[in-house]
Amino acid sequence: MPSISKSLQAILGAPGINGKRVTVLSKDGLTDFMRSIICSEQETKETFYVLDLGAVATLMDRWTLALPKVQPYYAVKCNPNLNFLGAMAALGTNFDCVSQAEIESILSLGVSPDRIIFANPCKAGSHIKYAASVGVNLTTFDSIDEIKKMQKWHPKCDLIIQIKALDDSGACCPLSSKLGNMGSKYGALPEELTVGGISFHIGSASTDSRAYQSRFCYQQAIAAAKTAFKMATKLGMPQMSVLNIGGGFMANSQFDETATVVKTAIQSYFGNYSGLTVIAEPGRFFAESVFTLATNIIGKRIRNELREYWISDGIYGSLNCIILDNAIVKCMPLALTSNLENPTRKGSKTYNSTVFGPTCDALDIVFRGYQLPKLQVDDWLVFSTMAAYTTAAGTNFNGFNTSAIPNIERIDCMNNVEAEYRQLKKVRPDECQLVGVRPADNCVTPANKTSSFARSPVWCLPQHLRCQS
Ligand SMILES: *Cc1c(COP(=O)(O)O)cnc(C)c1O
Repeated sequence: MPSISKSLQAILGAPGINGKRVTVLSKDGLTDFMRSIICSEQETKETFYVLDLGAVATLMDRWTLALPKVQPYYAVKCNPNLNFLGAMAALGTNFDCVSQAEIESILSLGVSPDRIIFANPCKAGSHIKYAASVGVNLTTFDSIDEIKKMQKWHPKCDLIIQIKALDDSGACCPLSSKLGNMGSKYGALPEELTVGGISFHIGSASTDSRAYQSRFCYQQAIAAAKTAFKMATKLGMPQMSVLNIGGGFMANSQFDETATVVKTAIQSYFGNYSGLTVIAEPGRFFAESVFTLATNIIGKRIRNELREYWISDGIYGSLNCIILDNAIVKCMPLALTSNLENPTRKGSKTYNSTVFGPTCDALDIVFRGYQLPKLQVDDWLVFSTMAAYTTAAGTNFNGFNTSAIPNIERIDCMNNVEAEYRQLKKVRPDECQLVGVRPADNCVTPANKTSSFARSPVWCLPQHLRCQS
């Protein structure tokens, strides 16, 4: 496993991260960290995200270890946050973009265009023209009409045919009704074409049971891809060289087994195929767990036994995932106004509660019948694993603008806080400043702090040092 410090060094130099304030914390320091942000910088009580850069590095290590020969092209649509994309780029991933704007944001990070796949089988002509002008030369397609467009706007582009994943009915977000064609009708491959490879997507998963099923889908789809490779040879097409196994991966305890099934299938179907490049388009795998959302309780009402709260983000914002991604979300209270001694309210009596989002639409309900302790206005609700298909699809309905939610980066120290600190000090000596927060004390206000999150790096070591109030 690459050392975490190497990954951290890469991340600290990343476009989008470099020059920003980064906070080093112990592994379990998230609550304290959020608390310090809220107390020192959040007079206005705005929704914010924390990006866990240590978790990004760990996920990358996990992928590389399990699928060393599968180059990930991170699916930007899953979470297009620039700081996160910058960290991913520094760690060596490539990118799956679906539109001109997604390509622009990746290029803005200084990433070379040959690290991008334009993974949209049906593209607008103007976007194809743009891709040609910036040198993005790899795309997917699944129809004759797309070929005509490619011939017209970007004839030099390498083409990958998107086949239908055979069974994605169990996925929370099946994609085969939209993506892919020619499932078993390979005879329909247009003869005049040069196709460089085969692509599929088994459907996006967000439950563990789906993750279990997904390994069989990969197996089936890899077998189908092999059939397509054979058909291409039969049709006298030049030898194909790319197998794109798409997304659908989850970073849960079953990931290693899924990876083993994928590797075994690649070996058994393509073991003696020379010159094959295998790529993937994971979105959820990398994004899901790395952001934590903090929402402020902005209103409260008690009707008979029922407790109702309003929070600063909702169904039209980040929490659209409840509707659009079938997500089952959970939250943890952070009662920084009503109970500073025990802000997570562990062991407190809970009540049936409704939680509304901030808009005036009756649809904007985050929870019904959810068990929460007694909370007050200006306490917080914290949502972890809140990054896959969340802000990406949020709106600014009623003037609550999802894309304006700030994010604050933190780095986990996996083992030894002090060793990590010394390591970081070596990398960015001038910017290093030591600030300590003891969990039970009031939050630190760093000397010369500014109200903006983006300035003066502060390394925050929770178990150490004095605490100012
Ligand atoms: C959405 C999408 C992905 C990412 O899927 P995940 O389930 O998040 O891994 C990859 N490729 C394509 C073509 C997609 O549409």
